[in-house]
Amino acid sequence: MTPEQLQFDRDNIWHPYTSMTQPTPCLAVASTEGVYLHLSNGEKLIDGMSSWWSSIHGYGHPLLNKAAHQQIDTMSHVMFGGLTHEPAIQLAQKLTAITPAGLDKVFLSDSGSVAVEVAIKMAFQYWIAKGLTAKNRLLTIRNGYHGDTFAAMAVCDPVTGMHDMFSGVLAKHYFAPRPETKFDQHWDPQDIGELAKILAENHQHIAALILEPIVQGAGGMRMYSAEYLVQARKLCTEFNVLLIADEIATGFGRTGKMFACDHAAISPDILCLGKALTGGYMSLAATLTTTEIAHSISDSGAGCFMHGPTFMGNPLACAIANASIDLLLESDWQTQVGNIEQQLKQGLEPARALPNVADVRCLGAIGVIELTSAVDSVKIQQQFTERSVWVRPFGKLVYVMPAYIMQADTLKQLTSAMVEVVASH
Ligand SMILES: *Cc1c(COP(=O)(O)O)cnc(C)c1O
Repeated sequence: MTPEQLQFDRDNIWHPYTSMTQPTPCLAVASTEGVYLHLSNGEKLIDGMSSWWSSIHGYGHPLLNKAAHQQIDTMSHVMFGGLTHEPAIQLAQKLTAITPAGLDKVFLSDSGSVAVEVAIKMAFQYWIAKGLTAKNRLLTIRNGYHGDTFAAMAVCDPVTGMHDMFSGVLAKHYFAPRPETKFDQHWDPQDIGELAKILAENHQHIAALILEPIVQGAGGMRMYSAEYLVQARKLCTEFNVLLIADEIATGFGRTGKMFACDHAAISPDILCLGKALTGGYMSLAATLTTTEIAHSISDSGAGCFMHGPTFMGNPLACAIANASIDLLLESDWQTQVGNIEQQLKQGLEPARALPNVADVRCLGAIGVIELTSAVDSVKIQQQFTERSVWVRPFGKLVYVMPAYIMQADTLKQLTSAMVEVVASH
């Protein structure tokens, strides 16, 4: 890459959550392979981020490459309105087979945020169909993150969700406190008291409870008790409120179960999937729901569900998703993720004693060091790059979610670098 190209990038291209007047430096990537990023300056970095939870099998997997090549030579895209194709049918069959029971109607879309928009729209359209039009608000828990589009933003944590400045233009919803009981801690029934109270007092106005099961991602990288989810499911049923599980980050084995809902053995009414759906190859997302909800929506006034993106069910993305799910099911992912969890716990434990560390927590293939204050993101990025690893902290959080194929010695390099960098930051 030429210096002119990099300058053009700085001057003209937005990156996620960046400034156009004070751009932070970007590394130029020439290619990716396995768990490595090859930079255009010849350096090679161990990737701790899996491109934001997505490349679970590592980059450039031969089977995923093959699926992409085959599909692109057959049919890259065709509109989904009035037409259908095998890659989408196979994907819906696989998704309904592996997701929690009862979710047998599949809506395919292009990105996680859209999958959340679709879920919210389904919930509202369902209650309109039932004649309960006063149920036009949502309930969520603090420290959540559900995407960057407007309906999704409105249920992100108002403070950590990165959207507080828009509060004046966003729909107003109900926020319960975040769950405090940690994943492996003894359950404290008080923990869900406030959520129960909001539901008891306002259920006539609440269409759905939306939450990230077990692991809250970009809103704070927090991991909470499965019992919270069990209780939340019960309360939703009791108060006639739909439960939307946003598994865009947690789906496909990341937390040690295929879906985070499986930790609590519950089925949501609506499920959102994205990120790892195509093994990190393409943007694709899905919203699944029950027959009852799908039929109620379809038999009501509009006679259909009111949504239909241009690239809905993109065959290329579906074909890769099919190959990625097959690869996952044929692999020994439980053992791989379990081993990564053990190594993350061991490797990150020394950080707990550091004076600038508030907490260390790991679940599945997710490892988090929470600092006592926000990092200097430019400086810490450089410290990681010097150690040949790619980790991208935000706020107080230094975290990794490696590909499931990462080998023990590579993971050791990654965790050692995290502890060293945090110690010297
Ligand atoms: C990333 C994420 C989203 C948004 O997905 P995009 O593909 O970035 O639109 C929504 N919910 C959760 C839990 C996520 O982690």
